[in-house]
Amino acid sequence: MALIVHKYGGTSMGSTERIRNVAKRVAKWARAGHQMVVVPSAMSGETNRLLGLAKELSPDLTTPELQRELDMIASTGEQVSVGLLAIALQAEGMRSVSYTGWQVPIETDSSFTKARIQRIDDQRVRADLAEGKVVIITGFQGIDPDGHITTLGRGGSDTSAVAVAAAMKADECLIFTDVDGVYTTDPRIVAEARRLHTISFEEMLEMASLGSKVLQIRSVEFAGKYRVPMRVLSSFTPWDIAIDEEAKSGTLITYEEDEKMEQAVVSGIAFNRDEAKVSVLGVPDKPGIAYQILGPVAEANIDVDVIIQNVSHEGKTDFSFTVHRNDYARTMELLKSTVIPKTGAAALSGDTKICKVSIVGIGMRSHVGVASKMFAALSEEGINVIDEKYMELAVRALHKAFEMDLPPA
Ligand code: ASP
Ligand code: MG
Repeated sequence: MALIVHKYGGTSMGSTERIRNVAKRVAKWARAGHQMVVVPSAMSGETNRLLGLAKELSPDLTTPELQRELDMIASTGEQVSVGLLAIALQAEGMRSVSYTGWQVPIETDSSFTKARIQRIDDQRVRADLAEGKVVIITGFQGIDPDGHITTLGRGGSDTSAVAVAAAMKADECLIFTDVDGVYTTDPRIVAEARRLHTISFEEMLEMASLGSKVLQIRSVEFAGKYRVPMRVLSSFTPWDIAIDEEAKSGTLITYEEDEKMEQAVVSGIAFNRDEAKVSVLGVPDKPGIAYQILGPVAEANIDVDVIIQNVSHEGKTDFSFTVHRNDYARTMELLKSTVIPKTGAAALSGDTKICKVSIVGIGMRSHVGVASKMFAALSEEGINVIDEKYMELAVRALHKAFEMDLPPA
């Protein structure tokens, strides 16, 4: 008998019919003798719908007071999901009970809309498991030290599931989703994309941080820190597929680098179209300039990604960086009001139609020439700076250049 955590994404929970399927699949695992904890997302589209309602009432929701209310609202999507799943399980003849984050409790800090989990008290959950119940816990949410409901950032149910698995020392955390594993790149863009049977935790971390949407990055960080055995697999296989077969499907996250050392130099291509580029032009090139520009940005809680500083000309330089597109307007505003006057920069420019394409692989450390091969492949296609409209072409060209469609030797 093992303790297993299942996580189901929004698409898998997308209708009562699908929820019934989830219940049947979970019941199959429970009947095989496993202790089951299930962490579902909100039904697909629900979190967007809820946040959309808030936006209708107030377009600017950036103050901590308003962010608190956003969490109050957004967390309800998962509350509905767990209740429905508990009912579906009971309809299958399984004993089950659902809990919200605060009922467990899953304790977080107070950063509304992007809270971090600090502690999970598993006593209540263990007591239910001991009584033979399937325990269903809301993804995406927790409770802060003052009793406010918090959420963990978009896609945060992955992190909830991994954190629960870590806290309970689960034997495995299975992330059921609408794809059947982790691919060399997005199969919707490259038809030849190949599913990876295993991926090292470091590569998964890179993939997630560079734009792959398969797992929320914080869930991968958590998995790495606690070495949570974890697998990404499809929830669209027939629910009654044999457990042995199911337990081997999808992509396993591994923690031993050595297992992969002999394999491909490059294991995947990630891309991100959520970024925008901001350039501060003609700034006096003095030590500390990066801090003068990025300090206020960081203070405003805006995450900066790629940073590029051009070679200076006559003591002036251009300084560019990328931020999430949602933060673009705020960043430009901030630079205009504080940074330009303080640094004496000549102008600002920005571009929201950019994308970032990255190649991922731990094998790159011991191989030279990866970057030159990448740029050669792109220049053959006439691609320079990756404008959004050329992104798919770039991803396909790189996938081919690195022979990622071929099975590893
Ligand atoms: N429902 C939340 C979201 O849409 C959390 C999740 O699905 O992981 O972001
Ligand atoms: Mg997700």
